[in-house]
Amino acid sequence: MKTALIYSDEWRHFDYGPEHPLRMERLRLTRKLMEAYGLTELPRAKVLVPEPADLDAIARFHSRDYIEVLRGVSAGDYVPHAARYGLGPGDNPIFPGLWEAAQLAAGGSLLAARMVAEGEADRAFHFAGGLHHAMPDRASGFCYVNDAVLAVMRLRERGWRVAYVDIDAHHGDGVQFAFYRDPNVLTISTHERGDRLFPGTGFVAEMGEGDGVGYSVNLPLQPFTDDAVYQPAFDAVVPPLLQAFKPDVMVLQLGIDSHRTDPLTHLSLTVQGFAAVVKRLLRLAPRVVALGGGGYDLPNVARAWTSAWAAMNEVTLPEGLPVECQKDMKRLGLQVLSLCDPPAELPEDTRRWAEEYARRQVASIRENIFPLHRL
Ligand SMILES: [Zn+2]
Repeated sequence: MKTALIYSDEWRHFDYGPEHPLRMERLRLTRKLMEAYGLTELPRAKVLVPEPADLDAIARFHSRDYIEVLRGVSAGDYVPHAARYGLGPGDNPIFPGLWEAAQLAAGGSLLAARMVAEGEADRAFHFAGGLHHAMPDRASGFCYVNDAVLAVMRLRERGWRVAYVDIDAHHGDGVQFAFYRDPNVLTISTHERGDRLFPGTGFVAEMGEGDGVGYSVNLPLQPFTDDAVYQPAFDAVVPPLLQAFKPDVMVLQLGIDSHRTDPLTHLSLTVQGFAAVVKRLLRLAPRVVALGGGGYDLPNVARAWTSAWAAMNEVTLPEGLPVECQKDMKRLGLQVLSLCDPPAELPEDTRRWAEEYARRQVASIRENIFPLHRL
């Protein structure tokens, strides 16, 4: 198993602003925890620094108009109607270097895709990527350029069938949109239901269009869905579809805002529940390009992505967090200094409520989408 980890120190130069929940510190913290566990010096793992993606690479998905707006606001120019492109105070703030940050995110995911496409790695992980909400001509949900779409396109150039699996708490709407009519790209997103959470989409009925019908799959979930509700629903839907589709490569979006302490969402997964899902996914495709995604409780981000990278390298980690990371984790509010979370019991009626909703979604997917894959 050859692997590649993509990481840049340059992220420390970018800042969405003091009030914004997306903190760049989470990347440094993740890199530090990986290093403390010895995961940045594995014999068969390369650690690579990405170059920013160039304008033409980004224009494969994004409109030239939008790119010019991003470049203008990033350089401090006055751009009339920036709000039409989703830019301004709120989710997608204008900050100096915004365009360079978007280029770096795209460059990292394109490098991960290239390593796998050229056989340099079987699994590559770019945890600063996974910005799955960006649309061709609009910023959305903290995302300016959709590096996940660009990575899938790069793998399609190789002629491969690509499965995109997105386990972020939010629907992977930008990626679904990009490949909605394409039967060579199977997109699967599990997320908190769209009538409770941004971006408001991701229902089972969004199944694709034209030749792509059946190749967009959504498993929406009730608030408070925990590991015990999530895992059987995931197992009932994701492995059978991937086994039927037989991807040459899988692109994973590994947002960890599904965690029970995440301040922005309402799912209730644990780090070990997340890691178990990642391990199951890794067995379902011969090659993997893994990206990051959401995650706004910083110690969760570092613990989850370190666990994911360990799984990609088939390394088992001790649960106790390395001493050199404990101070940071405490400062950022982690109470039990372990890679795993203590078990939390959901009230029985809450779990039944979440379970019943998941059961109905799974039944609907099995009824409407499985037959299209001869399942
Ligand atoms: Zn998210």
